[in-house]
Amino acid sequence: MSYEGKMLQDLKMPTRKEVEQALLITLFNCNGTIKEFAAGEEIVNEIANKFSLNENQRSAVLERIYHKENRIVKTPLWHRLLYRAADSLAKEKLVSRPTSTILLTNKKEWMLTENGFDEALKLLKIPPSHKKFLPTKSFEVQKIVKKLMETPRPEYYNPFDKEKKFAKSTRESLMRVRGFRQAVIEAYDCKCAFCGLKINAPDSLSWEVEAAHIVPHSSKGKDDVLNGVALCRLHHWAFDTGWLSIENDFTIQVSSKINLLSHDYGKMNHYDFIRIFSNQHSKIFLPKRKDAYPHQNAMTWHRENKFCN
Ligand SMILES: [Zn+2]
Repeated sequence: MSYEGKMLQDLKMPTRKEVEQALLITLFNCNGTIKEFAAGEEIVNEIANKFSLNENQRSAVLERIYHKENRIVKTPLWHRLLYRAADSLAKEKLVSRPTSTILLTNKKEWMLTENGFDEALKLLKIPPSHKKFLPTKSFEVQKIVKKLMETPRPEYYNPFDKEKKFAKSTRESLMRVRGFRQAVIEAYDCKCAFCGLKINAPDSLSWEVEAAHIVPHSSKGKDDVLNGVALCRLHHWAFDTGWLSIENDFTIQVSSKINLLSHDYGKMNHYDFIRIFSNQHSKIFLPKRKDAYPHQNAMTWHRENKFCN
């Protein structure tokens, strides 16, 4: 038995398989990514706590001779075990290595792949159908997000995707929708473009704000940033039902039907979530990057087809 193997056995450390499973679950609970272990002390401790490791197990150090420089290198055994488990998950293509993730997100992190995401759902006994509602990042979806963020604004933009099919959701179409959501929410800094509301869940895993299609999915609207706008749930509903729309100069339009409504409608205490935009010529909050501004072809379609003038 190797020196490392003997140490692991003597200290009754968890098995590699157990650590692999704990890593997948931790990745899932951390929204799909965790820092590489050298930089992520909190995660290293958090997983150690899951196994209730004692002080000896946490502080054990492996000593190896680094022949090139003829010196002794000391590595914490627990870090080494975590690394070996993550490395094995990477070989099985269940996670991406920090060296690959950094090319996508500029962060040195371990990230779930789609297969790793499925595996984590299995371990947690979460039905696969829940996947599309979860904001968990995956390497493949981040690739889509990167592409959406980096595609230059075309001279002529058609907000319709003629190829779009409705009959059955494929793995690709579900990934595209998840990529669309993440790209739009990120572009708007997680804020509602109408009211500016920005709030996440107490576990920090998800945002209240949603990515709304301007030309909706049901009219074959494209899943890209130019056909998207981040909206809180109330304003998403008001936008989809035609109470609100957006002018080409980004002014918020309010349906004249609002004048026919009784005054106690649409009020949340003193806040009137539709009328508030009536006379102010308020403009939507726009993304930082001009390339991600909603496109006038999509907004025009919405005004002509969805808005109740
Ligand atoms: Zn809002």
